[in-house]
Amino acid sequence: ERSTLREGQCVFYDMAVTQQLKKEWELNELFESSLKKGDFQLYLQPKVSLGSRQVAGAEALVRWIHPEKGMIYPSDFIPLFEKNGKICQLDLYIFEEACKTIRKWIDNGEPVLTISVNLSRRHFQGEDCLNAFYAIARQYRIPRDLLEMELTESIFFDDSTIEIVKGQIHRMHEMGFRCSLDDFGSGYSSLGMMMEFDVDVIKMDRRFFLDIDAPKARKLIVSIVRLAKEIGAQTVAEGIEAEDQVSFLAGIGCDMIQGYVFSKPRPVSEFEQWAREFSAAQ
Ligand code: C2E
Ligand code: MG
Ligand code: MG
Ligand code: MG
Repeated sequence: ERSTLREGQCVFYDMAVTQQLKKEWELNELFESSLKKGDFQLYLQPKVSLGSRQVAGAEALVRWIHPEKGMIYPSDFIPLFEKNGKICQLDLYIFEEACKTIRKWIDNGEPVLTISVNLSRRHFQGEDCLNAFYAIARQYRIPRDLLEMELTESIFFDDSTIEIVKGQIHRMHEMGFRCSLDDFGSGYSSLGMMMEFDVDVIKMDRRFFLDIDAPKARKLIVSIVRLAKEIGAQTVAEGIEAEDQVSFLAGIGCDMIQGYVFSKPRPVSEFEQWAREFSAAQ
């Protein structure tokens, strides 16, 4: 049967595009008011240290709690806000929420953890934004080594950005922040590239662990962990869901695990509750 484009399909296509644009337009319109109302919320997901089985830190992940649509996940709005630059404001907001949380832990004498935040590649195009992060960290008097900047490896998409990013990593360290390479191995970087950047942490992308029984995959993971050790970086395995993955990673000296096997990202108070129970159970 020959496929022909009928009139109906054409109209359907138009509607899909229009719908998409309408959706993007709506989300854009809502951005400012949602930010003011606190509809963007800080969720935390633990990183568990494999040596001690203690919670070693948490990653800050944004959730948009929409009054009618319910929870919206980052994949539905981050790409849009990256296009129009709103992501920079959002990243600063989440960073400030993370600082407030650490300040609260310190003031209340609660266990204090490192929080890592995601920085969009947008921060590395155009004007320098690091001063704004630094000012917020100072405002909340956060010991800077409790804050970690996650740079996704997709920022290294061309040679010109590599030099800029190297300079920015240097400045982050001067400001006292820790720095991690996120989504390592998801496509853009090579093992050689890892050596180029002076990062404190390598976060290995989830896709490495999907087929953890395959000898090839195992060898690759072992190499990354070994190489990271050589350059003095810690390793985090992302997206770990199963116990057999945990025992393999513990056996090869991976430092930390982040994944559903321990906990999903949770609102701050639920995260705190989870962390208390987890610690008590160890
Ligand atoms: P990411 O930084 O690599 O964060 C890890 C993602 O993996 C999170 O998705 C997390 O919920 C998910 N994850 C964690 N453990 C597991 C697991 O065991 N299995 C599976 N299937 N997934 C797991 P999330 O929260 O949907 O965020 C997606 C991405 O959006 C993040 O990837 C990050 O690149 C971006 N993002 C999130 N929050 C922010 C933010 O505040 N600013 C910026 N610029 N980007 C953000
Ligand atoms: Mg991340
Ligand atoms: Mg990641
Ligand atoms: Mg990832």
